[in-house]
Amino acid sequence: MQQKKIVLLICDGMADRPDKNRNNKTPLEVANKPNMDKIARDGICGIMNPIGYGIPPGSDTSHLALLGYDPYKYYTGRGPFEALGVGLNLTKDDIAFRCNFATAEKKNDKLFITDRRAGRGEFGLEKLGVLLNFQIEDVEAIFKASSGHRGVLVLRGKNLSEKISDSDPHSEGEIKNVVPLANTNSSKRTAEILNKFTQKAYEILNNSEIQNERLDKGMLPANIVLARGAGKIGEIPKFSEKYGMKGVGIAGVNLIKGICRAVGLDVVEIDGATGHKDSNIGGKIDACIKELKENKHDFILINIKGTDEISHDGDFKGKVEMIERIDMFIGKLLAQNLNATLALTADHTTSVTVKEHSGDPVPLAILGDVRTDKISKFSERECAKGGLGVIKGTDLLNILMDLSGRGKKFGA
Ligand code: ZN
Ligand code: ZN
Repeated sequence: MQQKKIVLLICDGMADRPDKNRNNKTPLEVANKPNMDKIARDGICGIMNPIGYGIPPGSDTSHLALLGYDPYKYYTGRGPFEALGVGLNLTKDDIAFRCNFATAEKKNDKLFITDRRAGRGEFGLEKLGVLLNFQIEDVEAIFKASSGHRGVLVLRGKNLSEKISDSDPHSEGEIKNVVPLANTNSSKRTAEILNKFTQKAYEILNNSEIQNERLDKGMLPANIVLARGAGKIGEIPKFSEKYGMKGVGIAGVNLIKGICRAVGLDVVEIDGATGHKDSNIGGKIDACIKELKENKHDFILINIKGTDEISHDGDFKGKVEMIERIDMFIGKLLAQNLNATLALTADHTTSVTVKEHSGDPVPLAILGDVRTDKISKFSERECAKGGLGVIKGTDLLNILMDLSGRGKKFGA
């Protein structure tokens, strides 16, 4: 059988709940989206619980699941995936944290956080981040500034543990002394190392010339780093070994890039792909078309984040417009007549009324060598009546493999 390439297009948080103020419709039901509807009409539809019935997924856990990795087994906290997302390499024993640059004041030898995000001013943070690469005893601190006021810290050394508390107080006030969360030497040692990192980071950052430049610009000093969500990446089977195909991820946000890298997908960097509502969606679709024409990868994951961001803002109209904009670019993809299996879905429901992720299942439509059904609209309620029925996120890749002539027979 001819093996087809697979495209998995994930519109982040695109699924929704009916809005009482909008004739009880969802944004997908209101939007004019002829190309998504074409996928539904010419393909097979269904509804998917990304993680499980009624479980509100995070984008990270859901993407793991949609790639066929049980998130309960392979998700080890956000830190490691953020670290991979900013392009740091991780060994399986490294401890990774998500960090904020913040503003601290020293009073009576104690550090108090006066702004948890250093006023959100980004000036100089990349250079400051470089200063935070140093040794603490025999442990290497590796730091990289990421987007906004954020950054990633990795502690590399022998006998370290992720079982420690955060240095981030999660509110303004005295900085938290990091404590071990397990009664082990590695846990105690890692807590001490992180406390030392915080003190040394304050000394270095506070005495850096860049703080004066920030002050001259009327900004708050970014003179401390708050760490949270310690985690280890652990051992994750490679996508290429699991499925026998090489894959690539096209995403704007670091977390999704990190998930892709964690399973061994290559990641394409797209100029202007920010993950925000004004992101370069056209650039992502063009990259996908290029990948389909080349022979480097058999599997292409595209994440479009803007639909989620807009849902958290509670902006129904904006979400409808965003869906229509994505649809236009899907039209460009469909116009290529490329011989591939294409799946369109969301990684979770982010309702504009709730402004948060919820456990409602998401619509799914697959275009390719499928048993078509009677569904002609891509929406939550229409897809629920489709030929695929209800599936679980971790089953999606198997279905796509099978439809693409890549399934492996079980038994004789
Ligand atoms: Zn998401
Ligand atoms: Zn979200």
